[in-house]
Amino acid sequence: MNTKTFASQADLEVKKVSFDKLSDHAWAYTAEGDPNTGIVIGDDAVMVIDTQATPVMAQDVIRRIREVTDKPIKYVLLSHYHAVRVLGASAYQPEHIIASQDTYDLIVERGEQDKASEIGRFPRLFQAVESVPDGMTWPTITFTGKMTMFLGKLEVQILQLGRGHTKGDTVVWLPQDKVLFSGDLVEFDATPYAGDAYFKDWPQTLDNIAALKPEKLVPGRGRALQNPAEVGAGLSGTRAFVSELYESVKAGASAGRDLKTVYRETYERLAPKYGQWVIFAHCMPFDVTRAYDEATQYPDPRIWTAERDIAMWQALEDIKA
Ligand SMILES: [Zn+2]
Repeated sequence: MNTKTFASQADLEVKKVSFDKLSDHAWAYTAEGDPNTGIVIGDDAVMVIDTQATPVMAQDVIRRIREVTDKPIKYVLLSHYHAVRVLGASAYQPEHIIASQDTYDLIVERGEQDKASEIGRFPRLFQAVESVPDGMTWPTITFTGKMTMFLGKLEVQILQLGRGHTKGDTVVWLPQDKVLFSGDLVEFDATPYAGDAYFKDWPQTLDNIAALKPEKLVPGRGRALQNPAEVGAGLSGTRAFVSELYESVKAGASAGRDLKTVYRETYERLAPKYGQWVIFAHCMPFDVTRAYDEATQYPDPRIWTAERDIAMWQALEDIKA
């Protein structure tokens, strides 16, 4: 019998942070598969893309930024609504927090539940969680489709290229430098979390990213991708995982097999190829559950609560609470 600990509650190993330059305007704060933060340095201001999970953790990002620029951090951009990327925002004291209207709507609809759920799943990623202010992190600017900002002469395109990891997915594109910040739409050597995903849309959204021809890319998790070959590997690896998982689940569901059976067969099918990616065992129950929902009766992701998380895990992994 499987006795896997719930989600990532047993993952306590501290990761090593890297702070890598991609261009004169772009940096990546990465940590061996933990959630990444992107930094855009314009002529007159700095934009932070995804904040880290708590204000205390964000202080380490600020420390690194201050090693390379003294320009003010005016903007925080949320690639999507997940708590692990959002709740550190207050540390930057930004003039504005920018998100897609779809992301804003998801914070209204399920922000509170997501916060409780994510903290329960992965305590290590919420170091000093008591430093998170009460309530939600509210965007002060929202957009639909595309918004362009000019940080001095630097053009910063903020784009919705389609749904994938969530309904609100937003990427940041620097056309002069050909650098893209993808959020969790692209992962590298890390398992895509798809518990709130749109499996049918995700591959097309990856095509839309590829069409920009980024030469460098900061994924949601994993190290910075520093040339077109690495960018291609990130895109194709993410696409393969998402597509193979959904095909496996769809086939099982349409043959009338129940979720637990489909989970087992999909896990065994994907583990040889992807099992070495970080958070594989964490993601699979959520990913397969969402894929089964999408393949059957739920076009939109159902809200995860702390209680639903545990009930799902018990049903699929045979653990006792
Ligand atoms: Zn996410």
